[in-house]
Amino acid sequence: MARPSLLDVLRQRPLLCDGGMGTQLIARGLGPGECADLWNLTRPDDVREVHRAYRAAGCDLLTTCSFQANTLALAAHGLADQADAINQAAAANARAATDDQAWVLGDIGPSGAFLEPMGEMTVGQLQQVFARQARALLDGGADAFIIETMSDPGEVAAAIVAARSVAPVPIIATYAFERSGDGAFRTMMGTTPSAAVSAAIDAGADVVGANCGTSLGLADYVALAGELVAAAGDVPVIVQPNAGTPVSQDGRMVHPASPADMAALVAPLCDAGVRVIGGCCGTTPAHLHAMAAAM
Ligand SMILES: [Zn+2]
Repeated sequence: MARPSLLDVLRQRPLLCDGGMGTQLIARGLGPGECADLWNLTRPDDVREVHRAYRAAGCDLLTTCSFQANTLALAAHGLADQADAINQAAAANARAATDDQAWVLGDIGPSGAFLEPMGEMTVGQLQQVFARQARALLDGGADAFIIETMSDPGEVAAAIVAARSVAPVPIIATYAFERSGDGAFRTMMGTTPSAAVSAAIDAGADVVGANCGTSLGLADYVALAGELVAAAGDVPVIVQPNAGTPVSQDGRMVHPASPADMAALVAPLCDAGVRVIGGCCGTTPAHLHAMAAAM
């Protein structure tokens, strides 16, 4: 029997997404400047172990290790010619950890390029880049897409349209917000939560929200969630906080929030109307395990 669509299940209960991948691979030896996504080919067992740990923690949604695996971002590592292989392997590595219960979210991150007129990229060129990544993720076994850590609503729209052109599967879109000088939430490009959410919904996103606000404290995510839910109307909202704002400890930056701190966020986020909760940078399987219990 085919598994139900994650959108059908989402109408009945909130879903738990997984937590940080990059910080988990750094803990396993990923060096500064090294391409995490290449580990899908060179260290697949490490990537699968992270996915399995998130699945064992109770996560419903497993995010592929392909945040920078579009051809533009891979070109910075000289790996553009391996884009299809990396994305297919990324989806297969997550798929191997689902035990046929969880869903695989094919992760699509920012291209690193700027759209016209700020940059030189046209919408059509950007759509081609994202469509190629989406196709390879689907070939590897992705059930849905998560377009994440975005700043530019134009890039989000291009990614959504591209992903939709490849297959009629669910699409989640998240932006990274910070507190701007006047205290309001904005993306790096200056976009407000309501404008960001509207652009993603207009382009066809099925779930919209926020992740990875580097300067946001845990309470900020609850306030932000209220704004996102108000803007999203009937469209479900996802929030994936970092494990607090990084602080310097013994000469390195660490995310300070404990698993209990993250678990304490679950009730206020659910009360604010959030339907998908997960973690971003600094969250670990232990954090997600505590969040699953709270959920
Ligand atoms: Zn993050």
